[in-house]
Amino acid sequence: PIYLDYNATTPLDQRVLDSMMPWLTGNFGNAASRTHLYGWEAAEAVATARQQVARILGATEKEIVFTSGATESNNLALKGAFEALGASRKHIITVATEHKAVLDTCQHLEAFGAEVTYLLPDSDGLICPEQVQDALRPDTLLVSVMYANNEIGVIQPIIEIGSLCRKAGVLFHTDATQAVGKVPIDVQHAAIDLLSLSAHKLYGPKGVGALYVRKGISLTAQLDGGRHERGLRSGTLNVPGIVGLGVACALAQKELAKESTRLTELRNTLENNLINSLLNTQINGHRTQRLPQTTNISFGGLDGEELLMSLHRLAVSNGSACTSASVEPSFVLKALGLPDDLAHASIRFSLGRFTTSEDIDLAIGHILEVVSRIRNGA
Ligand code: PLP
Repeated sequence: PIYLDYNATTPLDQRVLDSMMPWLTGNFGNAASRTHLYGWEAAEAVATARQQVARILGATEKEIVFTSGATESNNLALKGAFEALGASRKHIITVATEHKAVLDTCQHLEAFGAEVTYLLPDSDGLICPEQVQDALRPDTLLVSVMYANNEIGVIQPIIEIGSLCRKAGVLFHTDATQAVGKVPIDVQHAAIDLLSLSAHKLYGPKGVGALYVRKGISLTAQLDGGRHERGLRSGTLNVPGIVGLGVACALAQKELAKESTRLTELRNTLENNLINSLLNTQINGHRTQRLPQTTNISFGGLDGEELLMSLHRLAVSNGSACTSASVEPSFVLKALGLPDDLAHASIRFSLGRFTTSEDIDLAIGHILEVVSRIRNGA
């Protein structure tokens, strides 16, 4: 089937794999071994990757902490800040449409005394900076707002939120897992204190990611041990994975502008053909403030499961990979105000580096045929 589920995960780019291979074979050293060449070489490879990750964010190397992925990064950011500072400040502000790795972490912290405000987005999926401003309290510790949403692709007003958090002296965390490599990011300009990312969403390997921790911010480690990563994340470094993440960032940064234009065109072609040819279809999420390669479309009157099963020539999903096993309609679409049946009849199409215009033409033909067949009761 044609793969249009890049927001779930991306294939490993061959160039990334090539960069990793030596570190999976002959160069197997432990980056923490200081007494021989094996260790020195591994440490140097990690240092290069740290620069590459820092560069795509406008950060410095010392501000990058390698983790096992965005789930761990989100946990470290929120739990680490709460454990370090939560004695005096126990209020957290986040958004109802965040990824579960943020929402469930907030829920966990509530059991330990945190008070969490869950902001509701408008029907386009956006929150406005005033909502954050109004929710601030004297004891607010941290604001966590995702950069771009995994299901509908909308991009939140990060720069405005960062600026108001900085003025208020409140930590600002953003889960940028879906944004890194797709839109330009500058942690300085956006006044971001903590940022989560994951390699497997940008053509790197699974099981590796990073947390940007702005200089001067103290977090409590969630994994104790050998004090790797300046004590913030103990555990022998995943050298091949980290090298892959670094190269993935460098490639994405280099190709971002061109890819963004190309994918916007393909995404718009897909959208326009479906919306113009099929009655009772709608695009979910803001039309312009969103990622270039994501679209989420409701096919009114159809049964979502039947539609998904009938689109056998496409690999697409009806929500995030972690919740698509459930029969519940997407909580993100429900937060936008969609009724259950429409939320259920929605499909996310996410394009990527290896999507071609032939893929999109085939997908359009297939979708039009399947939807008419189901609607005609055939
Ligand atoms: N945050 C967002 C927005 C995501 O889309 C994902 C992907 O599933 C994650 C976090 C989790 O990332 P990881 O698979 O690296 O733990």
